[in-house]
Amino acid sequence: CGIVGYIGSQNASDILIDGLKKLEYRGYDSAGVAVFAGNDIEVVKSKGRLADLEKKMEEVGKPQGFCGIGHTRWATHGEPSDINSHPHSSAHVSLVHNGIIENYLPLRQMLQGDGYVFQSETDTEVVVNLIDSFYHGDPLEAIREAVLRLEGSYALGIIFEGETDKVYAVRKDSPLIIGLGKGENFIASDIPAILGHTRDYYLLEEGEIAVLTRDHVEISDIYGNHVEKEVQTATWDL
Ligand code: GLU
Repeated sequence: CGIVGYIGSQNASDILIDGLKKLEYRGYDSAGVAVFAGNDIEVVKSKGRLADLEKKMEEVGKPQGFCGIGHTRWATHGEPSDINSHPHSSAHVSLVHNGIIENYLPLRQMLQGDGYVFQSETDTEVVVNLIDSFYHGDPLEAIREAVLRLEGSYALGIIFEGETDKVYAVRKDSPLIIGLGKGENFIASDIPAILGHTRDYYLLEEGEIAVLTRDHVEISDIYGNHVEKEVQTATWDL
């Protein structure tokens, strides 16, 4: 269970895989990435090790872009399989999740009642469909409305169709940091994933929502108020 995300001017697929490798110690049974290739979100995911994901990328073509999210999964709901691997996607949203959504069953039933069809057995897929159900052009509003209804633990990395230069992140009871580069920014479950790129980071606190672009990171609370953060600097070596 590790999360990474990237927006910058380097090859996002390479940065994401590299970051996930640094989080291998957290343990995992599947891995995947979602990257903007032009305007389209391309997802490649696979049961198994990162080497299996890299092999699949060679077969289907590595997504070529500058913005994306990645995940290593430690299955809690739904067996390790290609379909249950993250990222999970709805019509407008793709996301990666670390944690457990405790109230996923009633949410799933509600969303099914609204016409959502589920592909996987994961608790995570309710999150992507819930955000989608609140999405009317404003990603932050959709994220806020969705997380207000989630019970459990989550660190989420989220991208929205059409928002090709933005990565969104929010967390509660699962770790997430924001790596601050020059002309590039990162999200990660832990510091080793960003150390090859930068030592500066923000610690995302409970309920805070981050919007990353190449040159800026904006953080707000669940009510939409701007949050001023202190930059942390990692002093240790890999
Ligand atoms: N609960 C989610 C799943 O089983 C996320 C697990 C994780 O943190 O890797 O897919």
